[in-house]
Amino acid sequence: MIHYQLRCSRGHEFDGWFQDSAAFERLVAAKLVDCPQCGDQSVTRALMAPAVASRERGEKLLMPPRAEAPAPPPGSSAPPGKAIPAQLLAMLQRMRAEIERTCDYVGPRFAEEARRIHRQEAPARGIYGEASADEVELLTEEGIEVARIPWVPRADS
Ligand SMILES: [Zn+2]
Repeated sequence: MIHYQLRCSRGHEFDGWFQDSAAFERLVAAKLVDCPQCGDQSVTRALMAPAVASRERGEKLLMPPRAEAPAPPPGSSAPPGKAIPAQLLAMLQRMRAEIERTCDYVGPRFAEEARRIHRQEAPARGIYGEASADEVELLTEEGIEVARIPWVPRADS
Protein backbone atom coordinates (compact mmCIF):
# COMPACT_ATOMS: atom_id res chain seq x y z
CA MET A 1 0.00 0.00 0.00
CA ILE A 2 1.08 3.53 -0.67
CA HIS A 3 0.01 6.68 1.10
CA TYR A 4 -0.67 9.90 -0.72
CA GLN A 5 -1.52 13.28 0.60
CA LEU A 6 -4.22 14.49 -1.77
CA ARG A 7 -5.67 17.87 -2.58
CA CYS A 8 -8.90 18.72 -4.38
CA SER A 9 -9.29 21.68 -6.74
CA ARG A 10 -10.79 23.73 -3.89
CA GLY A 11 -7.70 23.18 -1.77
CA HIS A 12 -8.97 20.62 0.74
CA GLU A 13 -6.29 18.18 1.74
CA PHE A 14 -6.94 14.58 2.69
CA ASP A 15 -5.21 11.21 2.88
CA GLY A 16 -5.55 8.38 0.42
CA TRP A 17 -4.24 4.84 0.42
CA PHE A 18 -3.65 3.02 -2.83
CA GLN A 19 -2.28 -0.30 -3.92
CA ASP A 20 0.41 1.47 -5.91
CA SER A 21 0.93 4.63 -7.94
CA ALA A 22 -0.59 3.07 -11.06
CA ALA A 23 -3.73 2.21 -9.09
CA PHE A 24 -3.90 5.81 -7.90
CA GLU A 25 -3.62 7.15 -11.47
CA ARG A 26 -6.31 4.73 -12.64
CA LEU A 27 -8.74 5.66 -9.88
CA VAL A 28 -8.27 9.38 -10.40
CA ALA A 29 -8.69 9.04 -14.16
CA ALA A 30 -11.90 7.09 -13.56
CA LYS A 31 -13.04 9.81 -11.11
CA LEU A 32 -13.30 7.29 -8.30
CA VAL A 33 -11.39 9.46 -5.84
CA ASP A 34 -13.34 12.34 -4.40
CA CYS A 35 -12.76 14.93 -1.73
CA PRO A 36 -14.37 13.87 1.57
CA GLN A 37 -15.23 17.51 2.31
CA CYS A 38 -16.81 18.68 -0.94
CA GLY A 39 -16.97 15.65 -3.24
CA ASP A 40 -14.74 17.27 -5.84
CA GLN A 41 -13.18 14.71 -8.16
CA SER A 42 -10.34 16.88 -9.48
CA VAL A 43 -7.84 15.36 -7.14
CA THR A 44 -4.07 15.72 -7.24
CA ARG A 45 -1.29 14.63 -4.97
CA ALA A 46 -0.48 17.39 -2.54
CA LEU A 47 2.96 16.25 -1.49
CA MET A 48 5.81 14.07 -2.52
CA ALA A 49 5.52 11.54 0.29
CA PRO A 50 6.60 8.46 -1.63
CA ALA A 51 7.87 8.82 -5.09
CA VAL A 52 7.86 8.69 -8.77
CA ALA A 53 10.76 6.52 -9.79
CA SER A 54 12.80 7.35 -12.81
CA ARG A 55 15.97 6.33 -14.55
CA GLU A 56 16.30 9.69 -16.19
CA ARG A 57 19.32 11.75 -15.40
CA GLY A 58 18.88 14.67 -13.11
CA GLU A 59 16.88 12.92 -10.48
CA LYS A 60 17.23 13.58 -6.79
CA LEU A 61 16.72 11.30 -3.89
CA LEU A 62 14.40 12.33 -1.18
CA MET A 63 14.05 11.20 2.37
CA PRO A 64 10.67 12.54 3.42
CA PRO A 65 10.52 14.38 6.74
CA ARG A 66 8.14 11.88 8.31
CA ALA A 67 9.84 8.69 9.44
CA GLU A 68 6.65 6.66 8.99
CA ALA A 69 6.32 7.54 5.31
CA PRO A 70 5.80 4.36 3.32
CA ALA A 71 8.29 2.99 0.84
CA PRO A 72 8.01 3.89 -2.81
CA PRO A 73 6.32 1.23 -4.88
CA PRO A 74 8.84 -1.46 -5.86
CA GLY A 75 9.82 -1.73 -9.47
CA SER A 76 7.97 1.31 -10.68
CA SER A 77 10.20 3.08 -13.12
CA ALA A 78 9.22 5.32 -15.96
CA PRO A 79 10.25 4.03 -19.36
CA PRO A 80 13.39 5.92 -20.37
CA GLY A 81 13.37 8.38 -23.19
CA LYS A 82 9.67 9.10 -23.04
CA ALA A 83 8.55 12.70 -23.04
CA ILE A 84 6.94 13.79 -19.81
CA PRO A 85 3.30 14.78 -20.36
CA ALA A 86 2.59 18.43 -19.53
CA GLN A 87 0.37 17.57 -16.60
CA LEU A 88 2.99 15.32 -15.07
CA LEU A 89 5.68 17.90 -15.71
CA ALA A 90 3.64 20.52 -13.87
CA MET A 91 3.18 18.11 -10.99
CA LEU A 92 6.93 17.41 -10.88
CA GLN A 93 7.65 21.13 -10.90
CA ARG A 94 5.30 21.64 -7.97
CA MET A 95 6.96 18.69 -6.26
CA ARG A 96 10.40 20.17 -6.83
CA ALA A 97 9.33 23.55 -5.45
CA GLU A 98 7.80 21.87 -2.41
CA ILE A 99 10.93 19.82 -1.77
CA GLU A 100 13.18 22.86 -2.13
CA ARG A 101 10.96 24.78 0.26
CA THR A 102 10.66 22.11 2.95
CA CYS A 103 13.78 19.96 2.75
CA ASP A 104 17.52 20.50 3.22
CA TYR A 105 19.79 20.00 0.24
CA VAL A 106 22.69 17.75 1.28
CA GLY A 107 24.10 16.98 -2.17
CA PRO A 108 26.35 13.92 -2.50
CA ARG A 109 26.23 13.42 1.29
CA PHE A 110 22.66 12.18 0.94
CA ALA A 111 23.27 8.56 1.99
CA GLU A 112 25.45 9.56 4.93
CA GLU A 113 23.02 12.21 6.15
CA ALA A 114 19.97 9.94 5.70
CA ARG A 115 21.73 7.37 7.89
CA ARG A 116 22.57 9.97 10.54
CA ILE A 117 18.95 11.11 10.67
CA HIS A 118 17.77 7.51 10.79
CA ARG A 119 20.07 6.90 13.78
CA GLN A 120 18.93 10.17 15.34
CA GLU A 121 22.45 11.54 15.20
CA ALA A 122 21.22 14.46 13.14
CA PRO A 123 18.06 16.55 13.50
CA ALA A 124 14.98 14.85 12.01
CA ARG A 125 14.02 16.59 8.81
CA GLY A 126 13.44 16.01 5.14
CA ILE A 127 16.56 16.02 3.00
CA TYR A 128 17.31 15.68 -0.68
CA GLY A 129 20.47 15.10 -2.64
CA GLU A 130 22.28 12.57 -4.74
CA ALA A 131 23.38 8.99 -4.15
CA SER A 132 24.46 6.06 -6.27
CA ALA A 133 22.15 3.14 -7.00
CA ASP A 134 24.26 0.97 -4.66
CA GLU A 135 23.96 3.47 -1.85
CA VAL A 136 20.20 3.60 -2.32
CA GLU A 137 19.99 -0.17 -2.19
CA LEU A 138 21.99 -0.22 1.05
CA LEU A 139 19.78 2.43 2.59
CA THR A 140 16.70 0.43 1.66
CA GLU A 141 18.21 -2.69 3.20
CA GLU A 142 18.84 -0.74 6.37
CA GLY A 143 15.16 0.18 6.47
CA ILE A 144 15.72 3.80 5.47
CA GLU A 145 13.07 4.83 3.03
CA VAL A 146 14.08 7.16 0.26
CA ALA A 147 12.32 8.19 -2.91
CA ARG A 148 13.59 8.95 -6.37
CA ILE A 149 12.36 12.23 -7.72
CA PRO A 150 12.78 13.18 -11.38
CA TRP A 151 14.39 16.59 -11.14
CA VAL A 152 12.68 18.67 -13.79
CA PRO A 153 13.53 22.28 -14.69
CA ARG A 154 11.72 24.83 -12.60
CA ALA A 155 8.44 26.23 -13.90
CA ASP A 156 9.97 29.72 -14.10
CA SER A 157 13.20 28.74 -15.86
ZN1 LIG B 1 -12.70 19.54 -1.52
